[in-house]
Amino acid sequence: MSKKVVIVGGGVAGAFLAKILQDHAHITLIDPKEYFEIPWACLRAMVEPAVAERIVVNHRDYFKKGDLVTSSAVTITETEVFTEDGTQVPYDYLVIATGHTEPVPKTRDERINQFKEENEKIKSAKSILIVGGGPTGVELAGEIAVDFPEKKVSVVHRGTRLLEFIGPKASKKALSWLKSKNVEVKLEQSVDLNSVSEGSNINAYRTSAGDSIEADVHFLCIGKPLSSAWLRETLLKDDLDGDGRIKVDENLRVKGRNNIFAIGDITDVPEIKQGVFAQGQAQVVAKNLKVLISGGNKLGVYKAQGTMAIVSLGRKHGVAQLPFITLSGRIPGLIKSGDLFVGQTRSKLGLPPK
Ligand SMILES: Cc1cc2nc3c(=O)[nH]c(=O)nc-3n(C[C@H](O)[C@H](O)[C@H](O)COP(=O)(O)OP(=O)(O)OC[C@H]3O[C@@H](n4cnc5c(N)ncnc54)[C@H](O)[C@@H]3O)c2cc1C
Repeated sequence: MSKKVVIVGGGVAGAFLAKILQDHAHITLIDPKEYFEIPWACLRAMVEPAVAERIVVNHRDYFKKGDLVTSSAVTITETEVFTEDGTQVPYDYLVIATGHTEPVPKTRDERINQFKEENEKIKSAKSILIVGGGPTGVELAGEIAVDFPEKKVSVVHRGTRLLEFIGPKASKKALSWLKSKNVEVKLEQSVDLNSVSEGSNINAYRTSAGDSIEADVHFLCIGKPLSSAWLRETLLKDDLDGDGRIKVDENLRVKGRNNIFAIGDITDVPEIKQGVFAQGQAQVVAKNLKVLISGGNKLGVYKAQGTMAIVSLGRKHGVAQLPFITLSGRIPGLIKSGDLFVGQTRSKLGLPPK
């Protein structure tokens, strides 16, 4: 009888693992939504909703075999995963890939409509406030500044520099690019969204420094929380670090566990959290599970990657953080900002790139 592998989380890591492993074991994929979405292209879908049709992919379109449980995992035992809707899923091997979480709709159609609504919000606003200057806030500001140059865009960021997950040179380059597009950036300030005074059709947002920003709408881009709180009362409660990441060994097994792995942003692998690394981890775990299922014990090792990230700035520009150099302008833009790796990601999932 084929071994039962349960994958919790249908984001980049979990979706790629399900795709690779579906011919080698009986897979159950557990995810609260019916679809996988390409996270780094979501901001483009807000300014160009047609993009949503390509980046929101039903799990069933790439994961044809095995079972799909559309619900959140709420707890685990040594042998089973329990979900919010009361489903009990037995496993021989468990892979946790729950990355980050945020409330998103359950169906693909609902998610695509959400992008259309966000696009309407942007189109009908003259002024837009973006709260948060991490990758999401910066990329959204870039998308709006390029596609809607007539709109006034403001970014308020609590930190001392934009893009704190990469180096200060990249922060500076992103800041000067945004300024060149007339985006107003306020650093070391926060916005209390409860203290917004609503005018007839414009809101006044007060910052912690006492500044007032007038904007028709705001978008909150403060990063999504890690999804490991559901493990705090389980057998893995001592396997979480102070940030809530799962401690893994070099084979990506939860430390001290023979049959439980973790991959993607949820792990404590010492590298910046990137989807491309999550895919690399999925490949190592797929290999390791194949070895274990066939009775072997020589497991592959995952090596933490050097810092590498590209932040897109609209459709043609970007800032790239590489291990020894920071680049900005058209070259990083050529690599990422045109198609945002959408065709490439779809192809890897066995889907037509367009
Ligand atoms: C603006 C932005 C730009 C980025 N650009 C790039 C880029 O250019 N290149 C790159 O490589 N990376 C990029 N990244 C990073 C990349 O998106 C993440 O590293 C990647 O999404 C991590 O994948 P993951 O599967 O670990 O987690 P996630 O993508 O967060 O997926 C987690 C999945 O688990 C599910 N889940 C959560 N809790 C539960 C639960 N209790 N039960 C069941 N399911 C659950 C969620 O619904 C979700 O489907 C970018 C990120 C952002 C925000």
